Amino acid sequence: MSKYWSDIVHKLTPYVPGEQPKIQNLIKLNTNENPYGPSPKVISALQAVVNDSLRLYPDPDSSQLKSAVADYYGLQPNQVFVGNGSDEVLAHVFQALLKHEAPLLFPDITYSFYPVYCGLYGIDYEAVPLNDNFEIALADYSKANGGIIFPNPNAPTGIPLPLSSIESLLKTNADSVVVIDEAYVDFGTQSAVSLINHYPNLLVVQTLSKARSLAGLRVGFAMGHPQLIEALIRVKDSFNSYPIDRFAEAGAIAALQDTAYFEETRQKVIASRVNLVGAMQTMGFDVLPSGANFIFACHPNHDAAELAQKLREHGIIVRHFKRPERIAQFLRITIGNEAQTEQLITTLKMLT
Ligand SMILES: *Cc1c(COP(=O)(O)O)cnc(C)c1O
Repeated sequence: MSKYWSDIVHKLTPYVPGEQPKIQNLIKLNTNENPYGPSPKVISALQAVVNDSLRLYPDPDSSQLKSAVADYYGLQPNQVFVGNGSDEVLAHVFQALLKHEAPLLFPDITYSFYPVYCGLYGIDYEAVPLNDNFEIALADYSKANGGIIFPNPNAPTGIPLPLSSIESLLKTNADSVVVIDEAYVDFGTQSAVSLINHYPNLLVVQTLSKARSLAGLRVGFAMGHPQLIEALIRVKDSFNSYPIDRFAEAGAIAALQDTAYFEETRQKVIASRVNLVGAMQTMGFDVLPSGANFIFACHPNHDAAELAQKLREHGIIVRHFKRPERIAQFLRITIGNEAQTEQLITTLKMLT
């Protein structure tokens, strides 16, 4: 606290990211990073940028990256917005498209950055409870609202919603923007990108941090009607003209173009998830159905916080959320590579 702080700073409750441990050799299953490195083509593309051109500003419009995203999804470049990680893209979305008189709606158990952005931008919101099975019940979103946002699959539950449900939601909320945060969509959830040309109120947000293994490069994007994109560009150009540096643009394009590597690594992650879920169910865990690169699980006879602590003593870190109460007995475990998954299974067998 300081008298020099502005009013808003006094009132902020910032997001708390998962731990990035300084200790080596831990099996890090706490922040949903990809266990496989980025495509070798990304590394080459980054190396090619290490030259004198770094004295020049990057392209403020990131035109080549927008075209690469548009080509990948069969869209036009004016339907694409890019930013410094999808967290930055989301921040602009909150400010540009989700601040209205009626409250913004999102699930009570979801990505905990959403209420943080509401605090930063002074957006009124209502947290809609998940149903008894921890699912997003879209019928509960049929009320006056200034916008709707949720991840699909949801985080930290991992539960996916089918495309047909999202389409009905878009129809019943034609007057507000519906944002689908598809950070984990490539691990077995249907993307809503195919609906973009049919619904001018749909915005789909994605990131290269998870399925493309580029959390360290910071690239995210939004796709939707050109008028929604225009709003985001107006905010971006009132904030930072160059959110995508020369490395980020080169690496992101290479990642989007290497579809073979992407396919191979995401299938490996999905296979490890299936293996882990089966093994944990045999040990008596209750595992929520996951369409993501993580699972959300609890054990009837073991306290989640204690289990997380014991796993840590065995060199494995997972994420435990003390709040809200309803999920305090769950652990969120990122899917690792095959060897890490085997080690996790062995350790869990010993601890349960
Ligand atoms: C990881 C994550 C993001 C942010 O990803 P970045 O692109 O790394 O900023 C956004 N939404 C959800 C739900 C996430 O889990």
